[in-house]
Amino acid sequence: MTIALSQFDEVRLDHVSRDFGALNALRDVSLTIRRREFIALLGPSGCGKSTTLNCIAGLLPVTGGAIWLDKSRVDTLRPEERGFGMVFQNYALFPHLNVRQNIGFGLKMRGRPKAEIDRKVDEALSLVRLQGQENKLPGQLSGGQQQRVAIARAIVIEPPLVLMDEPLSNLDAKLRLEMRAEIRRIHNELGATTIYVTHDQDEALSLADRIVVLRDGVVRQVGTPKELYEAPSHLDVADFMGFRNKLKGKVVGTEGGRAILDVEGARISGVARETLSAGSSAYAAIRPDDLMVGEAGPNAIAANVDTIEYRGREFVGTAHSAGGLDFVFRSHQPVEPGSNVHLRADDQRVLVFAEPIQGRH
Ligand code: ATP
Repeated sequence: MTIALSQFDEVRLDHVSRDFGALNALRDVSLTIRRREFIALLGPSGCGKSTTLNCIAGLLPVTGGAIWLDKSRVDTLRPEERGFGMVFQNYALFPHLNVRQNIGFGLKMRGRPKAEIDRKVDEALSLVRLQGQENKLPGQLSGGQQQRVAIARAIVIEPPLVLMDEPLSNLDAKLRLEMRAEIRRIHNELGATTIYVTHDQDEALSLADRIVVLRDGVVRQVGTPKELYEAPSHLDVADFMGFRNKLKGKVVGTEGGRAILDVEGARISGVARETLSAGSSAYAAIRPDDLMVGEAGPNAIAANVDTIEYRGREFVGTAHSAGGLDFVFRSHQPVEPGSNVHLRADDQRVLVFAEPIQGRH
């Protein structure tokens, strides 16, 4: 292989902040990314994912803190001096240059000899599986092929770090799945270090070695996909990880890492994920998969069914409680809209979080 990415031990964001006037788009973000890691920056729209990526790339200056590549400070360097590979959502290809010229552009700008450019472009074409397409213009390619060109262009300069900003969001669902696998394959084959921005939790879970969840410019949790999926540390992270049922209640007891809530008169117990005090408001968070139609009793709450849909193996429904809580649940049996049911969750599958403080998370 002729493409050999520059190597380093770690990239470190050290108390990075970025303000736009009065808006703190990033607040005190500290993060260490190790060589060969695939890191996903995940969070809802406006949480600061692209701002983080653009600060690392050098497209946006930081307003506080520093970014380090091992012992070299890089946030003071221009983007081209950092030399990171960038892949954007809209591909950003040159429309008048063919595939080969697009991929070779960065090497040409760096004044590399033609033979070297040809060799590296061939290698990149083969890595992204675009041999035979090299003389086409971007307008003659599908969206997936254009994104492959963009990836080839980013890696051909042999960057220490590959930065991707929602690279798959312009593709249809089937192609998105295909390209997701391709991106991970390319990352592995090259031994690359990749930082990947997405708002799609499935994409982050399936691609990343570690996920960084951002909200309102603050890092909320960093962990492996399994850690985030199974043990989110805050209610908003749980929400993002698919805990769609959030039952607000009062803490009536805590013991050995467990908490019991009173939710509209029902006793719901689960795993306490935060420090909780008796009498305070808290939320029991439950995935739709774990909330089942069952018997009245412990960990069951009365609900009235709104909708029910057949999903092949089972039914998925929505319901509400007398106190106005909304539920998404599943059932082995069909249940009639308008009927009264009890929705149950195993206490091992319930996570209990403190009520978020207004204006802070
Ligand atoms: P999305 O998924 O919608 O792209 P994001 O998580 O990438 O969202 P950012 O683009 O990083 O979010 O934006 C973070 C915050 O900073 C938002 O409130 C956004 O409105 C604001 N912001 C971003 N760029 C600018 C700018 N050039 N000028 C002013 N405010 C900005």
